[in-house]
Amino acid sequence: MIENKTLSSEELISLEDKHGAHNYHPLPVVLAKGDGVYVWDVEGKQYYDFLSAYSAVNQGHCHPAIIGAMTRQAETLTLTSRAFYNDALGPYEKFITEYFGFDKVLPMNTGAEAVETAIKICRKWAYEKKGIPENQAQIIVADNNFHGRTTTIVSFSSDNTASTNFGPYTPGFINIEYDNLDQLEEVIKGSNVAGFLIEPIQGEAGVMVPHENYIKRAKELCEKYNVLLLADEIQTGIGRTGALLRVCGDCTCEGHCEKQETYTAPDVLILGKALSGGAYPVSAVLANDEVMNVIQPGTHGSTFGGNPVAGAVGIAALNVIRNEKLTQNARRLGEIFRDRMNKMIEKTDLVKLVRGKGLLNAIVINDSEDSSTAWDICIKLRDNGLLAKPTHGNIIRFAPPLVMTEEQLHDCCDIIEKTIMKFGK
Ligand code: PLP
Repeated sequence: MIENKTLSSEELISLEDKHGAHNYHPLPVVLAKGDGVYVWDVEGKQYYDFLSAYSAVNQGHCHPAIIGAMTRQAETLTLTSRAFYNDALGPYEKFITEYFGFDKVLPMNTGAEAVETAIKICRKWAYEKKGIPENQAQIIVADNNFHGRTTTIVSFSSDNTASTNFGPYTPGFINIEYDNLDQLEEVIKGSNVAGFLIEPIQGEAGVMVPHENYIKRAKELCEKYNVLLLADEIQTGIGRTGALLRVCGDCTCEGHCEKQETYTAPDVLILGKALSGGAYPVSAVLANDEVMNVIQPGTHGSTFGGNPVAGAVGIAALNVIRNEKLTQNARRLGEIFRDRMNKMIEKTDLVKLVRGKGLLNAIVINDSEDSSTAWDICIKLRDNGLLAKPTHGNIIRFAPPLVMTEEQLHDCCDIIEKTIMKFGK
């Protein structure tokens, strides 16, 4: 550790290059410290973090309440496995189910594991409750989805880089266009359809915001045809889009409220990332008894899922969202951000549009999909003290921690504007 402190960014990058698998293409910046909305590189340069570890660090880097809960628990008991009970899991399960309004939770670690869990629950429900013949269950998914990296999940990805040469692929998925209710209605009628797995906003695809009421109408179709709505809120959930969950619509309350006019209850809710504020891998699948009770001892599990540290961290992370009113902050700052970006767009041809909800936003660069313009802009943003990364094609996602102040946001908008206006000159 001390040894590392003496290495330069360049040396650390070459260590990763030589000894690590090349499964990522990081922006060339090596971070050594984080606090709130800021991160620092090994040379001590400070940056605004505008990615928040893909929306895991909604509560800001190293939030003291979360780190405090984590270290207290880590000093007491870290892991029992689920072979025994522990005194942290039950209170966490009560807390999270009340927080989101479901009967039960199944705790896991990473996002992809939680999606896998939801798929398994859905299939089991299909055979045991809906009466679909063995091995015939189908789950509808959207084109350009991103649900993680397991072999089953990449089987229904439309991203060739994610799926090529990882076959044979898991069958049982039907791809349809995102935000297309007609296509959904056409396929959902099939008697073997068990579920509809959907991101309420597609984050990785470039912050694709569907039409108003898309999820609400989709749920009506799910109810009509006895199909489970599986909402992947791993990126959109926990305050990020200016609502506690994106399935809350534009509801302005801090907690779960079931306001009928805006809330669409998923049958299965999938959470990860900010469930720990970025401190620890914590994910969860929530459902009511009639669905979750298909899971019985031996049917699913994980050594680390529901461990005491995860429970303590999960409670602390969700309390921060509620106590610091981060959902409201995301909503208010998101409006300011899009307003500032729209004003900038009037002055330049380099950016086509800005879209998003709350503090999950993206700008679309006016250049061909395969050009390096978005990447080059991110390099300049880095030089100017702000870290962001392109998603697919020429789209840059902007997702700062939700603890940002209005003054800091304006400072960031100034950096983005200055960078874009000077770009290429
Ligand atoms: N689902 C969505 C919507 C995501 O954005 C991600 C990660 O970016 C995942 C699932 C996978 O989560 P993890 O990387 O923790 O496996």
